[in-house]
Amino acid sequence: MAVCAGCGGRPFYTRRYSGETLCASCFRDSIVEKTRRTVAKYQMIAPGDRIAVAVSGGKDSLSLLKVLAGLYSRRPNHVLAVSVDEGVAGYRDEALDHARSAARDLGVEHVVVSYKELFGFSLDEALDWKEERDVSSCSFCGVFRRRAIDEAAVRVKASVVATAHNLDDFVQTFLMNLMHGDVARLGWLDPARTDSSFPIRRVKPFMEIYEEEVALFAYQDRIPFQSVSCPYMHEGLRSEVRDYLNTMEANHPGMKNVLLRSGLDLISRYSSSSGKQFVSCSACGKPSSNGLCNVCRMRAAVEEHVNMERNSRSVGGG
Ligand SMILES: [Zn+2]
Ligand SMILES: [Zn+2]
Repeated sequence: MAVCAGCGGRPFYTRRYSGETLCASCFRDSIVEKTRRTVAKYQMIAPGDRIAVAVSGGKDSLSLLKVLAGLYSRRPNHVLAVSVDEGVAGYRDEALDHARSAARDLGVEHVVVSYKELFGFSLDEALDWKEERDVSSCSFCGVFRRRAIDEAAVRVKASVVATAHNLDDFVQTFLMNLMHGDVARLGWLDPARTDSSFPIRRVKPFMEIYEEEVALFAYQDRIPFQSVSCPYMHEGLRSEVRDYLNTMEANHPGMKNVLLRSGLDLISRYSSSSGKQFVSCSACGKPSSNGLCNVCRMRAAVEEHVNMERNSRSVGGG
């Protein structure tokens, strides 16, 4: 039987794409080391940066918080956790508890922002609006969630926002953009992308690590996380793409790595040519492809809907 390539110890995991077998402890070290190398390679974090880790309470974000807190443990107050409370009754509370206790155990500051305080409505309240329009919950939530994390990062005076997107997320999004004919959006995946309207850098330190390995890290490190998915989750195309990629990877180990390389190569060529021009949103000033940004557009529509609901309820009950 194969032994650990690092120390000769008891095997725990074999990377099919490289044939490397590792024990639990060397596997753990390899994830930390890969994260450190990814951060260095794309110059994600500079000395003196204040890093806000977006923590949802799932395995990926709790693992990222733990790895970054470990890597920067000699620089107190450089890593902190931010969470978004979308206001999904019963679901979010458990995840926020995990985020809270992880932050406490690691001794890092934790800040929670809610949809309600930022946008004036919770996801629960916004949902029947969404159903009328046939907008998928995840794309709807994604728009607001990104903005909420940005807001939280500004509040805690962070210079970097780290999200736990892994290699699978990257490759899925890459393929989905191609399938939607949305080539202009590929630039958003560029790890070196800067946004002049938002000076806080957005980084993805797990972007070169397989989802399976992040899950194994969380499991091996006994990180308690919420495994129940969001009750509104209906991913449609993304879950088909995920299944397809997993089949490809099983039949051709390393395929996801190759797609990551191809994606990054394409994006760097594309973004050096003159890409799509953005203008400032007339309401909030963030970049937008037309007059109003996605957040402000959806927000106005949801507000109108929520107010109408409230009014009709008070009339009906009156
Ligand atoms: Zn070992
Ligand atoms: Zn806007």
